[in-house]
Amino acid sequence: MAFPGPRSRALFAAAQRVIPGGVNSPVRAWKRLGGRPPVVVAGKGAWIVDADRRRYVDYVLSWGPLIHGHAHPATVRAVRAAAGRGLSFGAPCPAEAELAALVCAALPSMEQVRFVNSGTEATMSALRLARAATRRAMVVKFDGCYHGHADHLLVAAGSGCATLGQPDSAGVPASFAAKTASVPYNDLAAVEQAFAAHRGDVAAVIVEPVAGNMGLVLPAPGFLAGLRALCDREGALLVFDEVMTGFRTAWGGWQTVCGVRPDLTCLGKVVGGGLPVGAYGGARALMRQLAPEGPCYQAGTLSGNPVAMAAGLACLGAARRRGFHDRLAAWTTTLVEGLRGLAADHRQAVQFAQAGSMWGYFFSAEAVGEYAAAARSDTARWATFCAAMVEQGVYLAPSPFEAAFTSAAHGKQELDHTLRAAGRAFARTRRLHG
Ligand SMILES: *Cc1c(COP(=O)(O)O)cnc(C)c1O
Repeated sequence: MAFPGPRSRALFAAAQRVIPGGVNSPVRAWKRLGGRPPVVVAGKGAWIVDADRRRYVDYVLSWGPLIHGHAHPATVRAVRAAAGRGLSFGAPCPAEAELAALVCAALPSMEQVRFVNSGTEATMSALRLARAATRRAMVVKFDGCYHGHADHLLVAAGSGCATLGQPDSAGVPASFAAKTASVPYNDLAAVEQAFAAHRGDVAAVIVEPVAGNMGLVLPAPGFLAGLRALCDREGALLVFDEVMTGFRTAWGGWQTVCGVRPDLTCLGKVVGGGLPVGAYGGARALMRQLAPEGPCYQAGTLSGNPVAMAAGLACLGAARRRGFHDRLAAWTTTLVEGLRGLAADHRQAVQFAQAGSMWGYFFSAEAVGEYAAAARSDTARWATFCAAMVEQGVYLAPSPFEAAFTSAAHGKQELDHTLRAAGRAFARTRRLHG
């Protein structure tokens, strides 16, 4: 049967008339897989259902937030209860301080936290604060790292941008982009050069401590500690963008795994349990520079609203159990090792990577440690494999430059289903590409 089914096609065509490209975030348009996405109508546990009633094991999970799977019962209950008491007050509410206390306890580098509505807002606001605190202008980022769609961060920004083949965006004045230097991931010498080129004017280095927006790329040993040392030497702030890794790779984020303490941390995704929540925070002395206490302005009508906070509290509450992240990581390792074996059986050169319940794969014979290597991977081979998986009911990200995720709802049935599909998908890839 044609993919996707007729209802998805009709619904997406109707959306395309009234929404640019039919989507509210570009990667959802499946441009790299022919531009015909299934339209999703429901999700439960590890599975989603499309408008034609096809079922898929989901490894996208709303791009990361759903660490317990879809419609997590405790989170849904909490959201319903909070909604019944009022959707938003624009006034202090108990849940925001409760969630803030939970976040600060989980990530010791955060003594205070400010909630916003998205990861984009978190990184944008954190860097404004870094510039206010240092009275410097430049930001150093890494090629292929994505920090949301704020103007000055859309420079060599990976994922959606890479997928569309536009390393930058129209509408961003060159003068904004000039305040951002982008250098290769895992390349400390390049960071030193950037500091030298902008001596005394680098406010912050912002980094995904595990890069998940150019496919999954792990930090090389010593890379993050090296950034810490360089920032200390140069008087710049180190900002960890843990929007994807926070509460996912470990309870305390990747910073508690690598043992490097950033000055500011950005959160999103899991912290909102599937509702729109972002957050940023750090030492009290730094956070005190924010309005109303300090001169750095940042605000939000719906920030910290009780429904979103209730979702975050329920989601994190269920992720806090002893062994939760270890079990997720172990399941993910079983999956990745299964896939690695199948790739080898079918003589496909694939680079797999894993960080807790994040994983990724590149059709490439070389190790991938930075964006240029990711971009050299065989995207034609990837497209054949990914399309074959999706058609068999395994929902993988429709781009070769995205991380994949697992949830606590993924179990034996999902593992078997995924590996059966992958065996056939690798076989088809070999038939078509050798
Ligand atoms: C998803 C993501 C963002 C942006 O978050 P939004 O909620 O989509 O604005 C920023 N940084 C990283 C590392 C992300 O993965």
